[in-house]
Amino acid sequence: MKQQQLFEREPLPWELADQDDLACAQLVFNRPVDKAFDYLVPDHLRSQLQPGQRVKAPFGRGDRLAVGYCVGLERPKRGEGLKSVHSLAEPRPLLTAHMLTLTRWIADRYLCAWGQVLETVVPAGVKNRAGTREVLMLQLDAELRAASRGAKLPPKQAAVMKVLEAAEKPLPLEQVARQAGCGTAPITALRRKQFIRAFAERTEPLEPDASPATKAPNLILNADQTQALERILAALREQKYRTFLLFGVTGSGKTEVYIRAIEEVVGYGRQAIVLVPEISLTPQTIRRFRSRFESVAVLHSHLSDAERHRHWQQIAAGNVQVVVGARSAVFAPTPHLGLIVIDEEHETSFKQDTTPRYHAREVARKRAELEQVPLILGSATPTLESWRRAREGTDELLRLPRRVAGLPMPPVVIVDVRHDPMRRRGAAIGRALHAAMLGALEAGGQVILFLNLRGFSPVLWCRACGVAVKCPHCDVSLTWHKERREVLCHSCDHHQPPPTACPSCGDSGIQYIGVGTQRLEQEVRSRFSRYSCARMDSDSMRKPGSHDRTLEAFRLGETRILLGTQMISKGLDFPNVTLVGVIDADTVLHQPDLRASERTFQLIAQVAGRTGRSQKGGRVLVQTSCPAEPSILKASQHDYAGFAEAELEHRRQMKAPPLEHLVRVIVRGPDENAVLSEARRLADLVRAAIAAQDLPVRVLGPAPAPVARLKGNHRFHFQLSSASFDYLQQLWRTVHDELKPAGTVEFTVDVDPINLR
Ligand SMILES: [Zn+2]
Ligand SMILES: [Zn+2]
Repeated sequence: MKQQQLFEREPLPWELADQDDLACAQLVFNRPVDKAFDYLVPDHLRSQLQPGQRVKAPFGRGDRLAVGYCVGLERPKRGEGLKSVHSLAEPRPLLTAHMLTLTRWIADRYLCAWGQVLETVVPAGVKNRAGTREVLMLQLDAELRAASRGAKLPPKQAAVMKVLEAAEKPLPLEQVARQAGCGTAPITALRRKQFIRAFAERTEPLEPDASPATKAPNLILNADQTQALERILAALREQKYRTFLLFGVTGSGKTEVYIRAIEEVVGYGRQAIVLVPEISLTPQTIRRFRSRFESVAVLHSHLSDAERHRHWQQIAAGNVQVVVGARSAVFAPTPHLGLIVIDEEHETSFKQDTTPRYHAREVARKRAELEQVPLILGSATPTLESWRRAREGTDELLRLPRRVAGLPMPPVVIVDVRHDPMRRRGAAIGRALHAAMLGALEAGGQVILFLNLRGFSPVLWCRACGVAVKCPHCDVSLTWHKERREVLCHSCDHHQPPPTACPSCGDSGIQYIGVGTQRLEQEVRSRFSRYSCARMDSDSMRKPGSHDRTLEAFRLGETRILLGTQMISKGLDFPNVTLVGVIDADTVLHQPDLRASERTFQLIAQVAGRTGRSQKGGRVLVQTSCPAEPSILKASQHDYAGFAEAELEHRRQMKAPPLEHLVRVIVRGPDENAVLSEARRLADLVRAAIAAQDLPVRVLGPAPAPVARLKGNHRFHFQLSSASFDYLQQLWRTVHDELKPAGTVEFTVDVDPINLR
């Protein structure tokens, strides 16, 4: 009940009561138990402890001290038998009341424990105060000044005194020594004479990164952009929550609309959060925001703990105007949030794939509602979830149907490669694409080739028994990485020398089948040897800065052909790219995934967006063995709405999301029989609860998961499906306590799953 109150945002108990009465703290811990525990607050902590603060308290077996989060304070209902809070983990709360409400909501929405959510929201670097250190501060007050006046001092000591006399506030020892041009000896001497005072202080993390002093000018908006911006500005001025779906084709200038809206927000002295997929956090994107705003914090996954802590402090202090970051930036502690933007909202990386398995878009929606600010979702290929909400009027649809500067969308040609003579000989590039590449390159243009398979050959196939060689720990084919002279599992990073014989039958005739980016690169280098080529994938872009260098060489025209995986499918804007080739549009299509069509459409539309960015024009060739596939046809016609409507109808018939809500329960463990019997037991428990409460919830399974083995664990899953999430939540509350798997078996719960492996 307590949690429910917090959720509704009625006055919180600690906001009503006298400080003295609040002798009981509710603590949650980072454990998979969704429960708050009552602790007594000792007198000496009573005036300091606040909700949102971390404390140390005895917990669990042996009453060892554990760090917990204070989520509420109230009068004790009972004093007997309660343990006491031991101490504070830090002097101030790390979480605001809004953040507590938001994290409670995440626990309810994603069926996990509050403590697990809180632990995720606060970065490790903040918890351990990374990057701060104790420094010795030196000070001179009026009394000391009087005492030292007239004293005859050696020149170096006099210089130290001069520096401190000129300073209005205490200075760090290092700075004083530097300014006085001396070592520490004269300072120590002065301290001994008691002419200066010294005290230890923990440094604040450094200042935010400075942006260039000169700001780039605003671009001129076209009529569509102006209209969209007006709607957003109206919501901003009313300071009301509202979600906008900014549906703009590639190259329609969505970012400029975001930037203008953010300018308005910054003008009010508020902050904006911009979420982009990690893969799009390129130096170009960052420069774009830095050139328009004075203080921009960029939160990406490669930050050190110290950098993360520094950003957190600066954001919480209100020193940052714009936070640009991947998924977890949705938790940035902005003191006066004014706007949240999610660019490329269709990207699957906004869903976290470890507990808590939240989706940043849904969290952003809730946060925007709590703080009464607008949320903008931008995409050229919105998810069906977002499209449906906009179409039904829950969200407001804003359209940018044209590219900026009146540029046309590039023509997309579907190339049926089923009978292509070059492909038959094992080449990746068919005859039509080869000819188009030659034409584009000879005319001085640049080419982008897209293939979403890393490595050299994605399949090692045994001719004798007809079986693909799989990872010893996973139900996943091994990929041949020629550069490393190893075969790799892309699921668990297992690597080994290539097998000389088939592990199943011992035959030595193993064939390397299929084309990955490494093999494509080799083919391009031999067939287009006159033109320079670069490859971008997670293998070739390991070194820091390599991403930026490769793109810069392409921008300058030093590289003529750029090939790669998803890394090159989004955000890139190079006017001289006159041809984009999709090597194989079918790789996603045949995956056992209810969103396979949607992903295929997105992929082609996004890749096609990389050309036709200038008056030179451009075109797209899509190689496929399924030329009649609706997602490929509609993408070639740039007809998102047509695709979305047909696909929504299909999902309705299939009783699939977004018409239904799914909860996926994955049961795993090293012993296959134990896993299966646990999966059956859990599913039966759930079925019994559904029958007892007569809930409109379907149970599908249990069945082996599409990847039946992963990292040494056997995997079974079952899914709960209902038109309303409320029923699933209600069901989960009733069964949760009984779902304790036995022995070596574990299970995870994924709400609104995206990864269905
Ligand atoms: Zn074999
Ligand atoms: Zn593996």
